[in-house]
This record gives sequence, C-alpha cells and structure tokens, in this order.
Amino acid sequence: HPVHEGILRRQSARESAARTYARALPIVPVRARGLTIEGADGRRYLDCLSGAGTLALGHNHPVVLEAIRKVLDSGAPLHVLDLATPVKDAFITELFHTLPPGLAGHARVQFCGPAGTDAVEAAFKLVRAATGRNGILAFSGAYHGMTAGALEASGGAFDVRVARLPYPQDYRCPFGVGGERGAELAARWTESVLEDPKSGVPHPAGMILEPVQGEGGVIPAPDGWLRRMRQITADRSIPLIADEVQTGVGRTGAFWAVEHSGVTPDVMVLSKAIGGSLPLAVIVYRDELDAWQPGAHAGTFRGNQLAMAAGTATLAYVRENRLAERAAELGSQMLSQLRELAGEFTCIGDVRGRGLMIGVEVVEPVESARSEGSRTANRAALEGAGSGPGLSAPPGRHGRTPDQAEFGGPDDLGWPRGGLASGLVGADP
Ligand code: PMP
Repeated sequence: HPVHEGILRRQSARESAARTYARALPIVPVRARGLTIEGADGRRYLDCLSGAGTLALGHNHPVVLEAIRKVLDSGAPLHVLDLATPVKDAFITELFHTLPPGLAGHARVQFCGPAGTDAVEAAFKLVRAATGRNGILAFSGAYHGMTAGALEASGGAFDVRVARLPYPQDYRCPFGVGGERGAELAARWTESVLEDPKSGVPHPAGMILEPVQGEGGVIPAPDGWLRRMRQITADRSIPLIADEVQTGVGRTGAFWAVEHSGVTPDVMVLSKAIGGSLPLAVIVYRDELDAWQPGAHAGTFRGNQLAMAAGTATLAYVRENRLAERAAELGSQMLSQLRELAGEFTCIGDVRGRGLMIGVEVVEPVESARSEGSRTANRAALEGAGSGPGLSAPPGRHGRTPDQAEFGGPDDLGWPRGGLASGLVGADP
C-alpha cells in the first residue's frame, strides 16, 4: 500500500534510532476503536499493548470523546498551570473517590507533568523533603521512567542515591528457588540492607515499588511480600511509594493494584490511564507528608484540561461499571487458557499476571526443557557463593546460569559495587 509504505519509510529515515517496538511493527494506524487498530493498508490489528497502558476503556471510547468535546465546545481554557477550574475540581473529586480506603480522607494531590516519570521524580522529591533524608530503595527489574532519578531507580547509571533490592519472582527467581521461599529471601535481603549500618541506606527517604512490575516483564509481587514491605517501611518510618503508573485504573482486577494486598502506600504515583489516553500524571500522598514549600514543585504542563476531563470520564466509567471486577474475571479465564497453551508449546516459558495485566514469556524452546536443570544449578551456586549479612548472596558472575545470563540475572540487580556492604550505587557515604 503506497501511503502506508511511504509513511513507514519516511518515519524510519527521520526518527531517532531510539524508537522502541515500532521498529519491528510495520503498522500505520489511521483509525482505532475499542481493542482494534486499523492500519493505512486497511488491515485490522488487536492492540494488546492498550496504548502502552493508557487505554483503560480501549481506543476512542464514546464517554472519553464526549468529555473532550464538552470541554472544547464550552470555550474553557485548555491550559492554566495550576489554577483552580471546574474541570480540575471534577477530576480531583473523582480521583479521590477511587483511592484505597487507607488514603481516602487523608490525601493530597500534586499535579506533575505530563509524564509518569515526572510524577516519580516528584515522589522522590516529596519524600526527601518530608523525611529530611536521602536515598531511595528500589527493586531489580523495576521501571519508573527515563528522567535521571527515575532512570536510576530503573537500573540506569545516574549518580543519585538509589539502592536496588531483589524483587520476588518465580520464573527467574534471583535466589533460584521461587515461590514463598524466594519472596522470603528477597524480603530478608531488604531487611538486612536496612539493618546494616555500612549499607549506606540504613535510613533512606523512601522505598518505591511496582505492585506488578510492568516493563520488567509483567511480574506480580506476592501479596505477602507487599505486606512485608509495608511493615518493614512502617517500622522504620520510611515512606512507601507505590508506582501505579501502569497497574492502575482497574487493569489488575482491583481499581489500584495495591488493594489486592490491603497495603496502603504513603505515596501513589499515577499516570497513563488516569488521563483517559491524554498525558496526565499526579502523585497522591498522605497529607502529613506535605512538607513542600509553596512553589516547591512546578512544571508548565500540569494543567491539561482535556486530559483531566478525559481522565474524569474514564475513572468514573471504570468505577461505576465495576470494570476492575470484570478484568479480574476475564483475566482469570485468559490466564488459565494461556496456561493450557503453555503446556502444549515449549516456546511459552511462563504465563503470569493479575487481572488483565498479563505477560507471556516467549523463550527458546530448549529453555523450558532445561529450566528444572537451571534451577538446580542456581541452588548449587547459591550455596557456594559467599554470604550477605545473614544471607546467602545471590549467584555472582561465576555462579549464574544461562537463564540469568540472557535476562541480565543477578548481575543486573544493581548490587552495590564492591558487595552489599557499600550499599549505594554511585553514592557518597
Ligand atoms: N512507572 C511505570 C510503572 C511505568 O510503566 C512507566 C512507563 N512505562 C513509567 C513509570 C514512566 O512513565 P512515562 O513513560 O509516562 O514517563
């Protein structure tokens, strides 16, 4: 198709090589509705990425379009920084309706913007201001964004004070055991870092985690581990930041994914679906943390009225129509059917997820055949590999298995240089 080919050619010639999956997807979307995207070549595609998680109601849902049109037709200003407006008032009211019970009634919101990464940075700034401390605990495999602080928490290479800890997972458990035991070891690792005065982070400003890791490979954290992180942080007065940028607005089968575990975070980082497909990012936090001076956090694009209107319509629709429950039902059907397929096809290494946030790990067929072998090798490496404070260290470079080598594995966990005792990546003591 000439239009299609021309657009694809020009785009790949002019756009930066940093483009992501678009490089391998020769699709030129011209129309979209619900789950379906239609290409310039007339083909139809199912959008399993859901607009990178922004489309809680699918593409161009009528209630979202109607809300946007209403603002446009009303002559309301489209951009007003953080002045009060009726559109913003409606958004905050609806957002506060949805908050987990532990936060509702004690919450404040700060508009950030316009991307999730801006809200992550705002959360870091807030907890540093509120605690007067430095240092952020983050987890292996995390993705929090692409600005310096957020990138460091995602395993980047900027010089901010972030320590990365093991995130529990079954399929590629850094301790080689998976299940409850793996989650227990991961939790104990976190405790031991906090108890070690030489770690450099005995008393950090905050801990940030995703209740289901998204970019890390759709890895749901066990509820027990999340409660443990809540307990560990509460005992030490460390604010807990839940990054619900990707997990929010019903996708995981609860309005906010932390609700599955009953954990109330001190700060929630929200973006993507809260803007009903338009750019919008906020943090919501317990009001006692509000240590900011006037003007302490700013940014030009915090006042996007169209995004707030689209967001209000989306949040209200999800809440009123109990779409989180629907995602839980459909998700469990989908998971069990995908698991049946995993039994049939050796290229499916793992199927995991929560609600309709689901990942299928596609592997070299040979890998599933050797996975039991690699776990055994992993365990052996664990036993032979030195110790952290009161714990076996995860397998190091010599102990790692081919599985881990492919995925990054424990070497990619961001263990502080020179061993656990040095505590922080690139930080001064
Ligand atoms: N946090 C999480 C959990 C995310 O998934 C993302 C984006 N994928 C971000 C933060 C960053 O959001 P943005 O791309 O809008 O900056």
